[in-house]
Amino acid sequence: MPSPAAVNDGLAERFETVIGLEIHVQLQTRTKLFCSCPNAFGGAPNSRTCPICLGMPGALPVLNEAAVRYATRAALALGCVVNRRSRFARKNYFYPDLPKGYQISQYDQPLAGEGRFELDVEGRRQSVRIIRLHLEEDAGKSIHDGMPRSATGSYVDLNRCGVPLVEIVTAPELRSAGEAVAFLSALRDTLLYLEVTDASMEEGSLRCDANISLREHGAATLNPKTELKNLNSFRFLRQALAFEIERQAALLAAGEPLRQGTRLFDERGGETIAMRVKEEAHDYRYFPEPDLVPVALDEAALAAAAAAVPELPLARFDRFVAPAGYELSTDAAAELVAERRRADYFEAMVAAGAAPQAAANWVRMEIGRWLNESAAEMAGFPVPAAAMAELLRAIDDGTVAAGVAGQVMDRMAETGRAAADIIAGEAFRQISASDQLAPVVKAVLAAHPDEVAAFHGGREQVFGFLMGQVMKATQGKANPDTVRRLVRAGLER
Ligand code: ZN
Ligand code: MN
Repeated sequence: MPSPAAVNDGLAERFETVIGLEIHVQLQTRTKLFCSCPNAFGGAPNSRTCPICLGMPGALPVLNEAAVRYATRAALALGCVVNRRSRFARKNYFYPDLPKGYQISQYDQPLAGEGRFELDVEGRRQSVRIIRLHLEEDAGKSIHDGMPRSATGSYVDLNRCGVPLVEIVTAPELRSAGEAVAFLSALRDTLLYLEVTDASMEEGSLRCDANISLREHGAATLNPKTELKNLNSFRFLRQALAFEIERQAALLAAGEPLRQGTRLFDERGGETIAMRVKEEAHDYRYFPEPDLVPVALDEAALAAAAAAVPELPLARFDRFVAPAGYELSTDAAAELVAERRRADYFEAMVAAGAAPQAAANWVRMEIGRWLNESAAEMAGFPVPAAAMAELLRAIDDGTVAAGVAGQVMDRMAETGRAAADIIAGEAFRQISASDQLAPVVKAVLAAHPDEVAAFHGGREQVFGFLMGQVMKATQGKANPDTVRRLVRAGLER
């Protein structure tokens, strides 16, 4: 990417960066927000539409209660105050992917106000204020390329019209591109824990706009901001902000005025490009949606939403590393906690008797390997946690060699049989008997006279090599303690 940083080295440090994010999240409901069309990604263009989401005159919207439930759950997880009563409003603007000529959104009475979201930024705890969370419908998509007559016109696909969204707006409290990325990442993890969205940035179910301005350190007022639209990956968010910080710093340093406006990030050029001067709220002529009654939440609905909020990733991380908890390393805890099902599986193994450290290693290493090789998600791992705990017990009591336990796990996944079964029936048993291993050790030493001589000449590290040769000769089934003892004895002879 073109790097103004190289030219204006250190310029950005003269100013304080102020970033606020607006995040749109598609809710994973079965149907759309105001009609019964299926809510799913893709499909033949305009195949998932009806008079309501096409905006036909006279068609009346009916609110999807599941969307309200999901949005309320998300609001509570972000520490937001949920309003007992909220209402929809029409946001009027013209665009080909918006057939009604307005978007049904929430304006003066959103579903939820003020919240606080705590996150970890490179080991430092930070809490970011949430200004609001509201429900709205998605618009369709314009297609500019790849269609038969793309050269002369654009096409429109309205399948996405009416897909439920929550919009989450943060206060301008983020102070660097790194903090913005950390926030979006933590928010994504949390939303996935809530099981309200698939949060796929490639498919557009999590979309981020960033508002950014710079000011003198210590200044109380904000300068005009730039709104960066539709940053659809963590990398683009970071790059666009980095570019914009340098661009604005150069303008400020030169004494030139900043202008409020919307800019697009050009992924190929790695730079932001002016799109339009930012419209104000009054440009949208918001007014209350007359076709929908206000959203009312009673005590029972709020209690049910609260009950559906699981332990969130950060709290879980703290519990996993706590001395009174599993006492895992921060790396292990972070990796396990990043995905709810993986952390669940780990905890199920521990509940079935596995030692936390060993269980964590197995989930991260061997199960991770299996998932990679099988191109599967954690949910697709077929071995129950209790069966895995049994395998770990077999390693502990010496029934199976640690070196081949991964293969035992593979067989368990393949056949659905228990560890004990596979170890008994197949050649996975650990070889601990000295009389079985002694000839192997002897052969290995005889085959490596140079290494043996080197060892006697003081090169202690050759010991590990010779041990490795014995393990290899036994396909990893030898008991390492026995091998160590025999190699040591063989060398001393
Ligand atoms: Zn529809
Ligand atoms: Mn919006």
